[in-house]
Amino acid sequence: MDLSYTAEQDAFRAEVRAFLAEHLPKRLSEKVRLGKRLTKSEMEEWHALLNAQGWLAPNWPAAYGGAEWDAVQRQIFEEEACLAYAPRVVPFGLMMLAPVLLAFGSEEQKRHYLPRILSGEDWWCQGYSEPGAGSDLASLKTRAQRDGDHYVVNGQKTWTTLGQHANWIFCLVRTGTEGKPQEGISFLLIDMATPGVTVRPITLIDGEAEVNEVFFDNVRVPVANLVGEENKGWTYAKYLLTHERTNIAGVGFSNAALATLKQVAAQTLSGGKPLAQNPHFAARMAQVEIDLMAMRTTNLRVVSAAAKGQAPGAESSMLKVKGTQIRQELTSLLRRATGPDAMPFLPDYLEGGDNQTLDLPEHAPAAAPSYFNMRKLSIFGGSNEIQRGIITKAILEL
Ligand SMILES: Cc1cc2nc3c(=O)[nH]c(=O)nc-3n(C[C@H](O)[C@H](O)[C@H](O)COP(=O)(O)OP(=O)(O)OC[C@H]3O[C@@H](n4cnc5c(N)ncnc54)[C@H](O)[C@@H]3O)c2cc1C
Repeated sequence: MDLSYTAEQDAFRAEVRAFLAEHLPKRLSEKVRLGKRLTKSEMEEWHALLNAQGWLAPNWPAAYGGAEWDAVQRQIFEEEACLAYAPRVVPFGLMMLAPVLLAFGSEEQKRHYLPRILSGEDWWCQGYSEPGAGSDLASLKTRAQRDGDHYVVNGQKTWTTLGQHANWIFCLVRTGTEGKPQEGISFLLIDMATPGVTVRPITLIDGEAEVNEVFFDNVRVPVANLVGEENKGWTYAKYLLTHERTNIAGVGFSNAALATLKQVAAQTLSGGKPLAQNPHFAARMAQVEIDLMAMRTTNLRVVSAAAKGQAPGAESSMLKVKGTQIRQELTSLLRRATGPDAMPFLPDYLEGGDNQTLDLPEHAPAAAPSYFNMRKLSIFGGSNEIQRGIITKAILEL
């Protein structure tokens, strides 16, 4: 195992840094730095800038417009992008659907959908979870019945992230009831403008309408929109989840959050001294930094194995649990450091309005909403309890 960077990798890091310095609009990075919410058009702006550079699809083959970066290059890009406060790239089309289409889609589907993901013409969302089918995903009930050259879809998806912006949804639907529940599931691409699709927002604890319920009422979907074979969707769904869980450690995000926390703790006074010198607070900051250093090493171990062609296995479950605990602890500490200043809830400020005169430190308005929002990290992408179950079986062999 070699954890040092090569001269080429250092040169790549310098190239990424130079690109971010020149092309990342300050307007966007300031919003990200202050924890403000980006509008759809701001997310599209960053998507288009990366696309123009050829860096939007790091792991796609060059033949389809991808950058063909290896795992180490992807890691370097993520670290640098987070440190520069670049917006996150919306992953559903680029990082989740695309790998499934590349592996299991028809040539026609690849040629049709992949360029539209790059251009931003199609915004995808993920229709896996249902009320009653989250951790136990195979119990999903949304039904797709064959009627000539169409499927007729009825049912409900939930927790659909950014579904309010999407024009397409990839869905797991039940096409068979024989055998094990996993055997009757298919992977279907649905145009959200089709009659019978309704999107209803769910407001989260931080006040943001980031997730949705999506209802299907006799929605007619062409059979051509089936990916792979009917009733084989579970295989494709699992393949997609391995891609959903890559980069889950969030090392880049945590590096940036730790830097902010240290700065705030050095500037905030508690009992006449910087908070960073308070023994209790200093001990928690030190612990989270040690955890982050240890996770960074584990992450590099996984990334270095992936660069040699080995698929990450149950280690990605370890990274998910540890990575999300660290990110949650960092938001918890920042909220504590902010104290009573974290109390005002300023939705207009978070949505981008900045003409208010706030007598608050600049990190204060987002401290509590970020803390509450980040509770989601241990639930989605397979809850941390489920990941612990995987570690128990696959690593500890219990
Ligand atoms: C903010 C947010 C965004 C999301 N975005 C999307 C999206 O875009 N698309 C999508 O399809 N889904 C999305 N999800 C759904 C997410 O994948 C599910 O919430 C998750 O899989 C958990 O399922 P559940 O909510 O039904 O909880 P349940 O599965 O009912 O679990 C409830 C609790 O029981 C625990 N539990 C369940 N089974 C076990 C077990 N076998 N062993 C130990 N503990 C167990 C869980 O860990 C959890 O604590 C999102 C969720 C959130 C919160």
